[in-house]
Amino acid sequence: MTSWQQAAADDAALMNDFQTICRFGGRLSGTGQDEAAMEWALTRLREVGPDVRRVAVPYDGWRCLSGSLTLLGDTPVNLECVPLLRSASTDALGLEGTVLDLGAGRQEDFERAGDAVRGKIVLVRHEYPFSKGHVHRRRKYDMAVAHGAAAFLIANPLPGAGPLSGSSGRPRDGAGIPAAYIDHEGALALCAQPRARVRLLIQGEELRDSMACAGILDLPGGRDSRIVISAHMDGHDLGSSALDNATGVAVALAAARILAGQLGPGTPGLRICFFTAEEWALAGSARYLADMAATERHALKLNINLDTVAGDDTLCALISDYPALAGVVESAATRAGVPVSHWLPFMPNSDHANFARHGIPALRLVAGFDKPQSCVRHILSRGDVPDIILEGEMRNALAVTCAMASLALGMTDQELDALKSGSTCPRI
Ligand SMILES: [Zn+2]
Repeated sequence: MTSWQQAAADDAALMNDFQTICRFGGRLSGTGQDEAAMEWALTRLREVGPDVRRVAVPYDGWRCLSGSLTLLGDTPVNLECVPLLRSASTDALGLEGTVLDLGAGRQEDFERAGDAVRGKIVLVRHEYPFSKGHVHRRRKYDMAVAHGAAAFLIANPLPGAGPLSGSSGRPRDGAGIPAAYIDHEGALALCAQPRARVRLLIQGEELRDSMACAGILDLPGGRDSRIVISAHMDGHDLGSSALDNATGVAVALAAARILAGQLGPGTPGLRICFFTAEEWALAGSARYLADMAATERHALKLNINLDTVAGDDTLCALISDYPALAGVVESAATRAGVPVSHWLPFMPNSDHANFARHGIPALRLVAGFDKPQSCVRHILSRGDVPDIILEGEMRNALAVTCAMASLALGMTDQELDALKSGSTCPRI
C-alpha cells in the first residue's frame, strides 16, 4: 500500500461525510437543500482551518410549476416527463405537435432532416456523458432551436431507469423552446406510431434575484499562489445526487484534512471551493471566478475538480486541453498506486471548465470514463443513490486527489505556470 493509499484508508470520516451529504436530498439549487448542505460543509471546513467564507453569487433561478406529456389518439396516454431546468414554457393549454424522431440527435441527424424539423417536436436520445464521442444535451437542444423545432424531447436510452434531469442552458429571458426528458418506454411509445401527436405542457417561473453560494476554505502556504480543489454541492432532485456529486464533496473534505499538514513556507496555499448552481450551466463557479480580482485569479495555479469520482473502479482526468497536465496525472497516479487515464480535449461538463477558460490549468477527475455500463450510468437519474457507491472507489479517488495536489504543492510558481504551455483551451 502506498503512503497515499494509507492516508486515504486512515481517514475515518470519508464515508460518513458522503452519507451525510446524500441525506440532504438531491440538493437542487433553489430548493434550499444545497444551502443546508453547504452550511454543514462550512462547519466541516472550519474544523480544518479558520479562513472559511461563504460567497454569494447571483444566478438565473427558475422553478418548474408543472410538466406533462400526453400521447394523443383515441385513448390519450400520459407519459412521464421531467422539464429541463430553465425550459421555455408552453401556454397554459400546452403545445400540440407532431413528433419527429431524430435518433441520437447528432449534427448529421439534424442536417439529414433539414427543413422537416421546423415546427416539429423533436425526439433525441441522451448519451452517456463521459465518453470520447459524446454530444451533450445542450448542444442537441441548441441544434433543435437553430433548426426551428417547436419543442425538444430527450429520452433516457436505458430501460426501466425513468427519465433524467438536466438543464437547457437557456439564459434569463432568452429565446428557447419547451424541453423535457422522457424515459425509454415513453420514447418507444412515441415511436410505435408514425407521426405521433403529443401535447406538451410546461409551466415554469423565473426566480428573480436568485442567489447561489460558494463555500471557500483558504489554507495559506508560504506564498500567494494557490492550488484549488473544487467540487459542486448542488444536484438534481430525482435521486440523492450521490455520484454527482456527494462523492466529490466528501473526497474534497477528506483531502483538505489530509493535505492541511503539508503546507508550509515552501509551498503555495491550498483552497477548497464548493460550488452550487453547477447544474445550472456551471453558473456558480462562472460568477465566482468572474467577480474575483484579477490578481487573486492569477494566483490560482491549478484546479483539481472532483465530480463523480466514484461509481466505477476506473478514474480518468479530463485535462481540458492543457497537455502539460498529463505528466502531473501520470506521476500522481504512480505515487498513489492507482491507475488514472487522461483525456486531453476540453470538456465543459463541470466547474473545471470555468477555471480552464480563465487560463488556469484545470482538470476534472471522473470515474467510469468511456464505461457506459458502469454504475456511473445512473447519473442524473432516480438511481443516483448512495448504495451504488463502493468505499474502495472513494478511497482510491482520495489517494489520487492527494497525490495530485501534493505534487503541485511541491512545485515552484514557475513550474506551476509552465503547466499552461501548449494549451489551446478556449479563453474567456
Ligand atoms: Zn457534476
